[in-house]
Amino acid sequence: MVPGTHEVISHSGQMIYNASMGVCSIPLKSQCDLILRLEDVRSMPKIDLHRHLTGSITPTIMKKVAAHFCDLHSFSSAEEEDRLFPKGNISSHQDYFISWPLLSQLFHSIEVSRFTIRLILQELADDNVVYTELRTSPKGLDNGEQYSFAEYLNLLLECSAWAEAELGIVVRWIIGIPRHEYSHLRDGEDIVAFFEDAISLATAFHPHCVVGWDLNGIEEVAGPRRFKGVFERIRAAGFDITVHAGETTPVEQVIEAVGLLGATRIGHGISALLEYKTISCNELRSVVYEVCPTSNQKLGVLRQLAELPLPQALRTGGPYLVIASDNPGRLGTSLSMELYNYARAHCLDITALRAMTTAALSYSFADPQTRSRIVERLYAEDLSSASLAPTFS
Ligand SMILES: [Zn+2]
Repeated sequence: MVPGTHEVISHSGQMIYNASMGVCSIPLKSQCDLILRLEDVRSMPKIDLHRHLTGSITPTIMKKVAAHFCDLHSFSSAEEEDRLFPKGNISSHQDYFISWPLLSQLFHSIEVSRFTIRLILQELADDNVVYTELRTSPKGLDNGEQYSFAEYLNLLLECSAWAEAELGIVVRWIIGIPRHEYSHLRDGEDIVAFFEDAISLATAFHPHCVVGWDLNGIEEVAGPRRFKGVFERIRAAGFDITVHAGETTPVEQVIEAVGLLGATRIGHGISALLEYKTISCNELRSVVYEVCPTSNQKLGVLRQLAELPLPQALRTGGPYLVIASDNPGRLGTSLSMELYNYARAHCLDITALRAMTTAALSYSFADPQTRSRIVERLYAEDLSSASLAPTFS
């Protein structure tokens, strides 16, 4: 999973990243020495490996779409904003996703989808994200859209090309299967057959557009085991796998996601992260955890950011960890805010965050050529350390 031979060394000569060890030594400062400004995190090139398209719709984006398309005018009211973006804590995944069916209307046609996606990508660029793997459900299958899945995949390809040319960011896509939307299907072959055409279509877009598949949605509705056959087919097509597990469910779902679905990254996995010191299990220590702190805290599964492991935990063989934004529009956050809050909780400085960003790139599903292009962006504004930039092969 960790590619090539490469390492990152701090200005003081301290090894902070090694391909064979992950982030192996993060320079720490005492709380009183800590100087980390949010604007420094904002201006730092960043990588977001766990971000949902629908959850990236902010109230501002919703109003812009509503102003542009008269049939969506109802989305421009203040009452609608209060309804779709409720404040405060979230009691359950059902509560979390309550706005999704309505927000999905901002993808009801190719034209509206293009407009919405471009606004979302603009917000990513404004936060100085240079590489992202955006998750989207397989729209056009059976959700009442006015277009096919093939048309939607072509739109994703077009939007990625637009983002790279106009915004300078590289966008790849992960197709997410919302487990709660397929509970009407029977176990076994029916589920595999249902997704067969979608997997075949997406294969033509791999790896230059679609890089992976994800199982997401309400964890309590169905465990990873139910989708074993689907993900066997997806893996056989050459895709990488990430699975939402262990956010609101016990560690056993994480073990199933790794052992049965072949996940190399886990969305959240909070139950595993909080117990990893006491659980001796290879499945839990061999994957990358995509932690989205605000999301986890609003759901009440994480009390304090300090409960999360430090990157130094990697010195002892795991777990690997990246910080991501999840649903920043729904949650009122950004990747910069997530990194800033995590760093503050652990007394990390900007050098440490840059090392984590380099590590995140190595955990991405991008092909080696794409990673090499991204790493040039990560080091482009710091010429003094350009010679330390890792190479990918
Ligand atoms: Zn998520």
